[in-house]
Amino acid sequence: MLIMRRRALVLAGGAALLAGRASAQAARASAVLADPVYPFVLPPLPYAAGANEAAIDVATMELHHDKHHAAYVANLNAAVKDVPQVAAMPLSAMLAKLPELPEAIRNAVRNNGGSHANHSMFWPVMGGSGGEPGGELGTAIARDFGSFAQLKDGFNRAGVGQFGSGWVMVLADATGKLSLVARPNQDSPLMDAKRALFGNDVWEHAYYLRYQNRRADYLAAWWNVVNWPAITERYQAALGGKLAI
Ligand code: MN
Repeated sequence: MLIMRRRALVLAGGAALLAGRASAQAARASAVLADPVYPFVLPPLPYAAGANEAAIDVATMELHHDKHHAAYVANLNAAVKDVPQVAAMPLSAMLAKLPELPEAIRNAVRNNGGSHANHSMFWPVMGGSGGEPGGELGTAIARDFGSFAQLKDGFNRAGVGQFGSGWVMVLADATGKLSLVARPNQDSPLMDAKRALFGNDVWEHAYYLRYQNRRADYLAAWWNVVNWPAITERYQAALGGKLAI
């Protein structure tokens, strides 16, 4: 039994090596996520909780994912469970149609639905090893921000400048055009029918155990765990109009 499993692993490893980079990407969970639907579930981290140690400690990752994100999912389910016309919508539609939702659940959907969308995007764009993207995405960054260094600088400034909790994100439209936004609290670009290519959570729960009040240090270190292959996958989906959240 053990020998057979080892042989299977050796064969699988050989196939991955032969197939090269495409296979390596296929082995990782896709960063192009389906539009979540009710009942909402907490997506598993696509890597071990220690995978982002270069920027984020294990305890923070576990608390952030297993407790905070899980609570947003539970609260979102509780908000919509007795409102079937809302529960029938995918998450992107709930957020895009927020002003039309019953007032009694609007804030709960805004906070917990926005949070579920933002955190679901957040996990898979990490777990990488930083560096700088090339290809079409690298070209788009140079075109829309001047250079990769200017993107990082603008992103970090927006993150530091966001008062209180919130997110800093790079949006991508269906033509591939990139733009930088900071949003307060758990607001999602899906509320404006826009799509985040990637982004970072600047609420203290994302960094406080290691960085305390030093948000700028967290933002600077975060680039070391950015997963450019995953973000490139999301960029290709954005170009095809297939980035749901
Ligand atoms: Mn968070």
